Amino acid sequence: MTEGMPTDNVCDKCGRPVAPRNNAVVYQAEAGDISWDIATLTQPRHLAPEGSCAGSPSRFQHITGQPDQRGFPRPTLESMAAWRSACCRINWDDCPGWCPKGGLGAATA
Ligand SMILES: [Zn+2]
Ligand SMILES: [Zn+2]
Repeated sequence: MTEGMPTDNVCDKCGRPVAPRNNAVVYQAEAGDISWDIATLTQPRHLAPEGSCAGSPSRFQHITGQPDQRGFPRPTLESMAAWRSACCRINWDDCPGWCPKGGLGAATA
């Protein structure tokens, strides 16, 4: 392994383990926002809130459509569609309950 690479799969925010299906960096790469080369060099972060960790609301909103309360800009519909189809690929269509399963309709309310 290259020095400087994250050697453990722990969240850069809370320090607890991050499963690939809740790793915001994996979603970011799968959605095409960053390259996989960058993703492997980036410390994981929880995507959805997990335990006492707030996760990454600015990225999670791409999937849930729930705005980031801190005022991060809303993602475009194109970007949300990319993240949702990324989610369904990452999870082999066995998505967590917060995924609207690729559709844009369910989360626009
Ligand atoms: Zn965390
Ligand atoms: Zn999904």
